Amino acid sequence: ITWTREAGWHDAEVLPYGPIPMDPASSVLHYGQEIFEGLKAYRRADGSIVTFRPEANARRLNQSATRLALPEIPEDLFVQAVHELVTADRDWVPSGFDQSLYLRPFMIADESFLGVRAAQRARFMVIASPAGPYFSGGVKPVSIWLSQTLARAGHGGTGAAKCGGNYAASLAPQNEAAENGCQQVLFTDTATEDTIDELGGMNMFLVRADGTLLTPKLNGNILDGITRRSLIQLAKDRGHSVEERAVTVSEWRAGVADGSIIEAFACGTAAVITPIGQLKSTDFTIDFGDKAPGELTMSLREELTGIQTGAREDRHNWLDVIVAA
Ligand code: PMP
Repeated sequence: ITWTREAGWHDAEVLPYGPIPMDPASSVLHYGQEIFEGLKAYRRADGSIVTFRPEANARRLNQSATRLALPEIPEDLFVQAVHELVTADRDWVPSGFDQSLYLRPFMIADESFLGVRAAQRARFMVIASPAGPYFSGGVKPVSIWLSQTLARAGHGGTGAAKCGGNYAASLAPQNEAAENGCQQVLFTDTATEDTIDELGGMNMFLVRADGTLLTPKLNGNILDGITRRSLIQLAKDRGHSVEERAVTVSEWRAGVADGSIIEAFACGTAAVITPIGQLKSTDFTIDFGDKAPGELTMSLREELTGIQTGAREDRHNWLDVIVAA
């Protein structure tokens, strides 16, 4: 779908996957005006195909668009584009546990203009690929690396937007994590270097021994994760209290040491919920040892994946049925 300032969104089409024409002076190639989303289509046991809260992805894309000076797209047009692609690719939607068709809606600025100002032309596209589990080897605790020198986002920056530039900034810290034997990087607030923001591609939760969940509040640096929102709701439904506030690495370390923090997990569309087994930095290690994965982590995971696959009741009407049984 193409957007121009004069004509708005127009010329929607479904095309076979392949290269797209791109002018070398396209704004996205020079000033990085690019935003994206990620969601999954699941084939349920009864054969129907569903996605999970696609309108939330549409809303978040539009928030990213506003921050990156890109045009907003009407929510129903976004959802329609997802529907049309999934319907065209229905035979590619795998069935089975942890299997899905991953959908990547994205928007680029493609005005041919070498000047630093918001582009007057944009394109919105959705591509798809069958996907298995995010981490190979099933649900097992991940190790995360605390990056103490490299930041991904700063106050007033684009941290809350889902834009390519954030991920470009996260790649060197992600390499640092891998060099230290960790699968994910933990980003902290740039100002204090102690307040937890999020992981490279996931939000984070801690679980206290009294059943309270702690998660960093949306502070402008972190992504408003749809899995995060859904888990806050599911935990509250079960009577847990959820504190959305500043959470620090010091609090995490002290809580593990005195037994008041008993679980930690990361969450996102790709990995759903992943127990955190270890936090490493140059100075210290927090290790949950054989206590990870925790009980609440796994039961929230089971509930959320159960809703997505149809095994659990969809009380909040989160599923969007694209192909009926
Ligand atoms: N934070 C970051 C940086 C991410 O890339 C993602 C994945 N989209 C998340 C959090 C989790 O968001 P969601 O639950 O909407 O996938």
